[in-house]
This record gives sequence, C-alpha cells and structure tokens, in this order.
Amino acid sequence: MKTKGSIKTKKEALTAQKNMAYLGLFNSIDHNKEGIIQPYQFWNELKSHGILADDPRLKDINDNLKKEKLKNRKGITFELFSKYIDQSILLTKSLKGELVIPDFKSFTDEIITIYNKLEKNLSGSVANYIPQLARVNPDQFAVSICTIDGQRFDYGDFNTDFCLQSTCKPINYCIAHERLGESVVHKHIGREPSGRSFNEMALNNDGLPHNPLINSGAIMCSSLIERQAPISDRFDLVMKTWSELSGGFNPSFNNSVYLSEKQTADRNFALAYFMREKNAFPENTNLIETLEFYFQCCSIEVKSPSMASAAATLANGGVNPLTGKNVFNSSTVKNCLSLMNSCGMYDFSGEYAFKIGFPAKSGVSGAMMIVIPNVMGICVWSPNLDELGNSVRGVEFSKIFGERFNFHNYDSLINGNDKLDPRKSKYENKIDGVISLIYAASLGDIDEIKKLEARGIDLNSADYDGRTALHLAASEGHKEVVEYLINRNTTANLKDRWGGSPIEDAKRSNHRNIVKILEEYLSNQFKLENK
Ligand code: GLN
Repeated sequence: MKTKGSIKTKKEALTAQKNMAYLGLFNSIDHNKEGIIQPYQFWNELKSHGILADDPRLKDINDNLKKEKLKNRKGITFELFSKYIDQSILLTKSLKGELVIPDFKSFTDEIITIYNKLEKNLSGSVANYIPQLARVNPDQFAVSICTIDGQRFDYGDFNTDFCLQSTCKPINYCIAHERLGESVVHKHIGREPSGRSFNEMALNNDGLPHNPLINSGAIMCSSLIERQAPISDRFDLVMKTWSELSGGFNPSFNNSVYLSEKQTADRNFALAYFMREKNAFPENTNLIETLEFYFQCCSIEVKSPSMASAAATLANGGVNPLTGKNVFNSSTVKNCLSLMNSCGMYDFSGEYAFKIGFPAKSGVSGAMMIVIPNVMGICVWSPNLDELGNSVRGVEFSKIFGERFNFHNYDSLINGNDKLDPRKSKYENKIDGVISLIYAASLGDIDEIKKLEARGIDLNSADYDGRTALHLAASEGHKEVVEYLINRNTTANLKDRWGGSPIEDAKRSNHRNIVKILEEYLSNQFKLENK
C-alpha cells in the first residue's frame, strides 16, 4: 500500500533526478566551475547552438536577466538557471543538442568555408534597368540561415537592406492562395515552367501566365490579392505578411525603387495588356492599380535574416519558427514549394531542379530564397547577376551547398553518396553506418552488408567494444556472411575489447563449420604473409 510518505519520496526522487539533469546542463556552461555563470557565457553557449539573444521566444528570459543583472551583480545562479530551464523547452533542447541541426557549429563552419570561397567571385553584373539597382555595390554578399527550430546564423552583409524584386512572387502567390484556394488562383495562372526569361511576352495555350513566379504570373497574383479592398489595405496586408514571415522584424519600403520601377515598366504594362486581351484577369480588374501594386511589392526591402526567416517559415509548413505564428496553411506552402522547385529560377529552373534539387526563388536585386523542407530556410544576397537574372553567388552557393549536404530532393535514394547530413549529430553520420553493418552481420543479411559496403563503410569497422561484422557473424553462425566477409579480405583476427577474436566467438557458440572456415583462412593468410 502506498503511504503519503512513499509518494513524497517518489516526488523527491524525481526532483533530485531533474536537478541532476539541470546541473549537468549548468556545468556544461560553467566551464571554470565557479558555481555561477555570467550572462555572456549563457548567451554564447546558446549562440553556439544557433539560438540568439534577440530570439522572440526568449524575450521574457532576456528581460529577466537584465533585471537580475541590475539587482544582483553576481550572474546566473543554479537556482535561477533551473527557473529558466523550467520556463523554456527551447533552452533544454538547445543545450542538450536536440535541435534539428544538433551540431550547429560544424554546420556553420561549412557555410563560412563556402562563403569565403565565393567571396572572390566577382563575375556577373548588377541589374541596370533602374538606377537604384545599378548603383548598388556589387561586392556585397550576405548569407543567413534559419532552421525550423529557429537556429540562426548570419554572415557577411546581413545588416544591409535589399529589395525583394522577384522574391515577392512566391509570397504573393501564397497570400492569394490562402484566401482564394488553389482552384480559383489556378483558373488565372498555370503551373508549368515557361522555359523563357522572366519577362518574356508569352502566355500558355490557354492565354494564361505559365506560372506565378514569372512577371506575367506575379502581375496576375497581384490582381487576385484582396481585390475588393482599397489598394492601401492590400499593400498593408503584404507588409504585415512579410513582418510575420520575418519573425517580428519589420520590412521597409524603398520609394525610389518603386518610382523607377513604375517609370521603366513598358514590358510589364505590355504583359498586363496582353493578358487583358486574352481575358485572363478576373472581371473588373483595374490594370494600373494592379501593376502599381506589383511594383510596390517588388520595392519592399528586407535584410537577409528576415528573408531566411521567411524561407524557414516555408520550410516549416507555414509556421514561423521564431514566433510560432501560423502564417500560411501547409497546403498553400506545399503548392508554393512545388512551384519554386520547378519554376523559381527563371529559365535556369530545370537545370537547378536537376542539379541542385531544392526549391528556390531569385530576384534581380541579387536576393535568393532557398528552402530545405523540414530543415531550414536560407537567404543568399549578392547583387551581381548572370545573364539569366539569377545571383551569380546565389547559384554558386546552391551548387556547393548541394554537393556538400544531402538536400537534393532525391538524395535519399542514393546509398553511396558521401554528402553530410547536418540533421545528424557529430558522430552519428559515421556511427550509423558501422552499427548498421554490425547489426546486418548479426542477422545474416548479406544484401544489407553489400549496400553498406557500396556506401563506403569499411567492412573491418568495429563498434565501441571492438566488435566487428566478422565477430557477430561468427558468433551467430551466419556461414554465408563469414564467407562473404573473408572473400572481401577482411581481417579475421581483430580483437574485441575483451581480447576475443571471431574464431573464439565461433568456438564458444559451437559453430564448427565456421571455426573451420576461419582456421583455413587464417592459415592461408599466414602462409601468404610468410612466403
Ligand atoms: N521588378 C522586376 C520586374 O518586374 C522584378 C523582376 C525580377 O526580379 N526578375 O521586372
């Protein structure tokens, strides 16, 4: 029978267990074992996991820390630390390395390497159809990352504003889609890549824009967003959406870009009239208002961290990772990402999908929004463009990033690639293969062993106890596996941590046929070595 006392004891035991766990986390920050941690140590530790001090999810803790600092100048006691941990699951997950990119530091080191490599690449030229873009310093280069857990990393010119240009297109599509639904939106816009440049005078066979991510389609989307509302409210809606996507960092508006866009818009006007001639717009569309609205959207300005946060919202099925705000429905995001995957990079889209294989959208300001679904959003901004209108460094970044990490849509089909998976912890990439090999050997699964071998796993690899595939196969009596392994010239006399060799395992388990095979193999090897 339970007594009051025993329940209390259990509760106490749980508290003690929790305290132990918290103490472990505390000690991992209190490097000098002073029993107290300074706020900068606390934030530095979180930063190494990608969690920054201005994270909206940690606002209360940040405010409280500032107050505590004024009150007691000592720093963070274990008691205070435990209170924060209780308050925020994000803290526990980050400190334990349980966020989507567990080894964030190694991952961002790779990003810095890519950045440094590309910094020297000054090829291409800035867009020059309006003076505001022509005047931009072409050397600027920013990379920002935001994961679906809100781990962030910014590098280079991430404090400089740039205008959205065509990167407004996927978001305007989402806004229209969210309100009208797929069927209404796609009554007016197709979903095929055009294979032509972004402002080509071309419509599909139904007289509709090919897709929402080229100019004709974006103009059409603009006509669909809140069409009954005054134009000022429609613009406010787009700004509010960008602010939500940015995790609370507000976008701005560049009026001179807007005025220049309006003045040099013959092609966009022509496209709009062409579509009107084909009855592509909904009834009573005000063309001038629609075009001006589109130019305004192109002239919204953000910094790279905001765009990365927007891309992360798409990667996260429409929920902003930093605020938890559900900005778009997941079905809207799914359709948007499908289009970014097939049509996001103008007439380089097919090549990008083939070679690089994740959704992206570029703009003539040199901005690029990259989405790795269920993992992260990336913004690369670098104003020099190639002849197709894509950021040179943005495309090069995508190529190197795609070669380094296994984020191509179909990378999962390939066993033998040596790309890194940053979703795994530091050693997991390596350990995974070894453990699978040993497990397959213990089950006698030759096919799996062959696949792992093709993936580049060394057949002699051993687990922490020094047990190899041959130990396990010998111990479990899997003759075919033993034969296969020795045919592949594995070392038959490797010792485990207790000094045991495969042949001893076979003897202990009484697998005489295997003992014989191994004895022959070892004596042949001995003869060969002593020839
Ligand atoms: N403002 C530009 C235009 O409409 C945007 C195009 C782009 O970024 N490709 O022509």
